[in-house]
Amino acid sequence: MTEFRAPTREMAFTLKHVAGFSEMTKACGYEDASEDVVSAILEEAARFAGSVIAPTNVTGDQTGVRLDSDYKVATPAGFKEAYQQYADSGWASLQFDPEFGGQGLPFSLAIPVQEMWHAANMAWGLCPLLSQGAVEALSENASDALKEQLLPKMISGHWTGTMNLTEPQAGSDLSNIRTQAHPDGDVYRIKGQKIFITWGEHDMAENIIHLVLARLPDAPPGVKGISLFAVPKYLPDASGEPGERNDCHAVSLEHKLGIHASPTCVMAYGDNEGATGYLVGEENRGLACMFTMMNNARLTVGLQGVSISERAYQQARDYTFERTQGTAPGEKGVSPIIKHPDVRRMLMTMKTLTEAARGLAYTGCVAMDYANAESLPDDLKSRYTRRANLLTPLVKGWCTEIAQEVTSLGIQCYGGMGFIEETGAAQHYRDARILPIYEGTNGIQALDLIGRKTIRDNGQAMAELIDDIRSFTGLAQSGSVISADRQAKFDQAVTFLEDATSIVLERGDDDQFTGAVAFDYLMLSSIVTASWLMLKAATAAANDPADQSAFAANKLATTNFFIDHILPRCSAHMSSMRSGDDAIMALSETDF
Ligand SMILES: Cc1cc2nc3c(=O)[nH]c(=O)nc-3n(C[C@H](O)[C@H](O)[C@H](O)COP(=O)(O)OP(=O)(O)OC[C@H]3O[C@@H](n4cnc5c(N)ncnc54)[C@H](O)[C@@H]3O)c2cc1C
Repeated sequence: MTEFRAPTREMAFTLKHVAGFSEMTKACGYEDASEDVVSAILEEAARFAGSVIAPTNVTGDQTGVRLDSDYKVATPAGFKEAYQQYADSGWASLQFDPEFGGQGLPFSLAIPVQEMWHAANMAWGLCPLLSQGAVEALSENASDALKEQLLPKMISGHWTGTMNLTEPQAGSDLSNIRTQAHPDGDVYRIKGQKIFITWGEHDMAENIIHLVLARLPDAPPGVKGISLFAVPKYLPDASGEPGERNDCHAVSLEHKLGIHASPTCVMAYGDNEGATGYLVGEENRGLACMFTMMNNARLTVGLQGVSISERAYQQARDYTFERTQGTAPGEKGVSPIIKHPDVRRMLMTMKTLTEAARGLAYTGCVAMDYANAESLPDDLKSRYTRRANLLTPLVKGWCTEIAQEVTSLGIQCYGGMGFIEETGAAQHYRDARILPIYEGTNGIQALDLIGRKTIRDNGQAMAELIDDIRSFTGLAQSGSVISADRQAKFDQAVTFLEDATSIVLERGDDDQFTGAVAFDYLMLSSIVTASWLMLKAATAAANDPADQSAFAANKLATTNFFIDHILPRCSAHMSSMRSGDDAIMALSETDF
């Protein structure tokens, strides 16, 4: 088993040189987020992740969670203590509004910090992830009184939050939600069942605020009739402390392939008089309010893909230095397996995909900070809103897809021992498997990209992204760090993305076609964007006068590897898009 050491240098570098964090902090008025502050936060978070959270990962996986007969959920040893330290040390409040006790730092600075939590223990990290999304949704949409009542405790981390969308008949399609909300004076009575609710019940915090989608009695059918409610586990009393127990509880926990230590709850609301719920936002506008939380969670689920990939990579790398087998080419006697070219291929694939995904995730989150900055002129704000919206499905979709490949390669580097649970490589693979499923499956992310984010805005956001990519390579070409041959491959891939976008816009009203090619379009856009970000990283590292060391050479190596081994995947995606994916469209049910 390997310890977790957060790659703080890599994170700080990616934030600054790839995602453009420093420019963002200047433009958006985050004067406090200086390089020294960033560095101090990352180092302290790394210490906490490595020494407090990471040691709970394997035992949490082995022990899992337990629902007791009084509807209480017991978490594995060390979880509660780690969570309390996390809240007491102020980690929960980094990016939130100082008016409610937050530290007012950028969202994108909280991202590498959260990457560390998930890499240290993804099951544990889901609790802060959902709480953060709930805070965002309440901050944007709740009444002032409700904010006053809930936000300070949630921002301090002493109360946690959940997201309650899914019901047995309403998964990807939320128009089927049946949970009911009946007005009762100033509050609502919530009745219904939700499934798959992450951290729906636990013993780590004093209270849990459930954000629940439900329908009013006279609500119109479909998604236009869904409202959002805050349903506390304990109703706050007159002094704001947890008071009377609300009529909601976890009735069972799911047995899962991975993230065993994250309680995935079936929740019952209103077994008796109806759970007390407070309306968030306007009646029947619940899905729009919940989207604040979902967009945030989509970015952070993508980030989980980066985290688990980093953890799997570190572990595989360490093993390949220790394990000896055979004689590698050019060696005498038995060699550590890192010397075998095929093992290097696997490790380098893991490393380069992880770095590229990190670049993409951080860039998406910096775009989100710009989009949310009040001080920015309207045209810039709109541009960054489009950029953040465009990158969200790429971050969620691609970073979680690569996590499947990276964690699987992690097992392969171990050989047979990877398949044996004791080594811990298998846990990463099992844990990672949920990532393309929750927060909107990757099929749904692909439809979001092609439909809402490309066709609906007539390709504007994608055209702006391609422009930025082209202008960067135009600038970089004079002193390009990559060979002319690789530059040509990169240019070709950008042309693919342009052509693919034209095809999408031309055939935008053909649902069959867009549905068939959506996933290829998502992968193609992500790989091209990620390769641009890799190139940015290699260029910045090469030009950094303070650093002419191995770091710059490493950056160039991963960038070259990405262009040689990952970028060629674009031509397969392009080929599917060009053929209109006849193979899929021509199929009928009898073919299966
Ligand atoms: C461990 C875990 C934790 C979870 N946590 C939460 C949580 O905290 N809160 C919460 O509300 N939910 C949660 N979920 C639910 C999760 O978000 C859903 O499982 C997910 O949205 C998919 O819904 P579904 O399972 O009903 O699959 P389905 O919607 O039945 O989809 C099955 C397959 O069909 C595809 N598909 C469905 N519709 C379409 C379409 N229109 N076009 C193309 N393809 C389509 C999907 O992509 C998927 O591959 C969790 C789930 C799990 C397993």
